[in-house]
Amino acid sequence: MKFAMIGAGAMGLRYGILLQEAGNDVTFIDTWQPHIDKIREQGGVYVMRDHKDRHLTKIKLETPETFDGHPDMFIFFAKQMQLQDYLDRCEHFFHKDQYAFTCMNGMGHIEKLQNYFADDKIIGGTALIATVLPGPGEVDFMGKRGAGKMNMCPLNEKPDKMCKALFNELQKADMNPTLTDDFTGTLMTKVIFNSVINTICTMFELPMGEFGNFPGAYQMGRQLIDEAYDICARAGIKLVSSRDEEMAALDHNTRIDMPLHYPSMYQDMTKDRPTEVDYINGYIAELGRKYHYEASTHLFVTQAVHLAEFHRQNL
Ligand code: NAD
Repeated sequence: MKFAMIGAGAMGLRYGILLQEAGNDVTFIDTWQPHIDKIREQGGVYVMRDHKDRHLTKIKLETPETFDGHPDMFIFFAKQMQLQDYLDRCEHFFHKDQYAFTCMNGMGHIEKLQNYFADDKIIGGTALIATVLPGPGEVDFMGKRGAGKMNMCPLNEKPDKMCKALFNELQKADMNPTLTDDFTGTLMTKVIFNSVINTICTMFELPMGEFGNFPGAYQMGRQLIDEAYDICARAGIKLVSSRDEEMAALDHNTRIDMPLHYPSMYQDMTKDRPTEVDYINGYIAELGRKYHYEASTHLFVTQAVHLAEFHRQNL
């Protein structure tokens, strides 16, 4: 298949390079100038796995202004607050026959994609795959090949030929995809998962295992999970996991799977970039408001992360 990655950051590079290695034609499109300059100067991207085996991988890199290809599918991996700028700058090469796929965290991106792509051409998903961009021109794929897993679902919940072809390519690339049948439930289950780990580890600057091993972790997580699940019940959103399954997944992910990993929200804050908290806990609180439910813990946590950002800006 022919792909264009919109956003060649940590996840864009991981998905794009693994799809390229699986035999696909992949072009990367990015706007961060120091990253673009470094990749051009080096003749590619330095790829590592768990800080080891650093090697140069050649990629085709363009900017929104220089790209003029016609891929079958665009894969969006920007941060939520960058997406509109990417869409504005890339709009000139979007066509009606093309698909948009994304596993971005948070909520708000699908509505934006709907302004450019037809509903039957949008595929959403979630990725439990940790990847770090240590600096311009370098990416670290955390975990062994085949580590992590992901869910995907077309917006109209009717997988067509192109969706199945994407699924096959992701399988060949060892991304461990699962095709689910409930679009909103799939995405919201991950938003809720992130609303606990990403935000708490970011506020307190903790690796995930330190939160998981804290004796009060269950109580803190459960309060956020209960509020979010109550809201989804009011909104008629069918989540993929039960409350207990979500708690067990949080425990496993923090203590067993990735104890040393800092979530991507933490990485943004420590690089003085804005976090996606408004699209995660903030989104849950906003949804609550719509259904007359005061999500006081999510509201508090949203502001607490903003306070942590504010504090760093004033250092
Ligand atoms: P990223 O920040 O690595 O890259 C996104 C964009 O930001 C790219 O265009 C990149 O070039 C640019 N960028 C990176 N560092 C920058 C800097 N210091 N200044 C300016 N621009 C910079 O983002 P990502 O980790 O690839 O995440 C993309 C989406 O995937 C997000 O919604 C994220 O929450 C989600 N996600 C990330 C991970 C992960 O482990 N990284 C896992 C699952 C989901």
